[in-house]
Amino acid sequence: MNIALIAHDSKKELMVQFCIAYCGILSRHALCATGTTGKLVAEATGLDIQRFLSGSQGGDQQIAARIGYNEIDLLLFFRDPLSPKPHEPNEMNMLRLCDVHNIPVATNVATGEVLVRALDRGDFDWRNIVNPKSR
Ligand code: PGA
Repeated sequence: MNIALIAHDSKKELMVQFCIAYCGILSRHALCATGTTGKLVAEATGLDIQRFLSGSQGGDQQIAARIGYNEIDLLLFFRDPLSPKPHEPNEMNMLRLCDVHNIPVATNVATGEVLVRALDRGDFDWRNIVNPKSR
């Protein structure tokens, strides 16, 4: 699976701790991230992470484009809901594209845990619901 990681500044340490805790699972998947998030997680975990631009420089739009190309299977986006960001419209578009393409997305650590554990259990195939004939 292709997993994208993004964390707002106040959530970056949380993202690092999350990735340390789930390093074993994450290491079995292809990871990409916005610039600073990817750098911090890679330094803390040794995970191999494809890094895009910083969110404010268009990194979230690069990830949104990959969602459009069906190249992202899971988005972990730990948002800070308390401080507005100049690039928030782009982030909202990225979340919208997740809904358009039925991409599982976590915007907080609690949902992130649920999704990563589900991914590890292998019960992560929404395609069965969208298209029952594929069962
Ligand atoms: P960053 O981008 O990982 O480069 O900081 C994420 C963000 O939009 O804050």
